[in-house]
Amino acid sequence: MRVRVGQGFDVHPFIDDPDRPLVLGGVVFDSPRALAGHSDADVIAHACADALLGAAGLGDIGMLFPDTDPRWSGANSIDLLAEVARRVRSAGWEPGNVDASVVTDHPKMAPARVQMQERLSAAVEAPVSVKGRRPEGLGALGRGEGVACWAVAVVTRP
Ligand code: MG
Repeated sequence: MRVRVGQGFDVHPFIDDPDRPLVLGGVVFDSPRALAGHSDADVIAHACADALLGAAGLGDIGMLFPDTDPRWSGANSIDLLAEVARRVRSAGWEPGNVDASVVTDHPKMAPARVQMQERLSAAVEAPVSVKGRRPEGLGALGRGEGVACWAVAVVTRP
């Protein structure tokens, strides 16, 4: 069996837009602040997608879903992640698991952790785990200017 690993990173800044939903891991949070981005700006889904694409050697989500393409404006990132998993499988790789670390103070990750993991895992059709880490006051993340996420994925081929 061949095994490959991929790493993904994403970051999106907060904006004050009461009409824009805050979406993380496919879950909509009740929040006065949202993340700016061309799609729904779901940093967790994006980091997971980039980890899978990297593992399969298929580039990154910027190549697959360019932010200059109006098709992806406001896109549901869970759908993009499911499409990434399809492309990984089409290339002959089976997603093993994805593990993500999201760094932010807001919103609190723990109450939504199980639901996020369920939505992400359903999209990938493989286990996705999410860990919340606080930025401990350091830098832009510590000042609450945005949310960052790192993810690692494993894919296998018989
Ligand atoms: Mg992104």
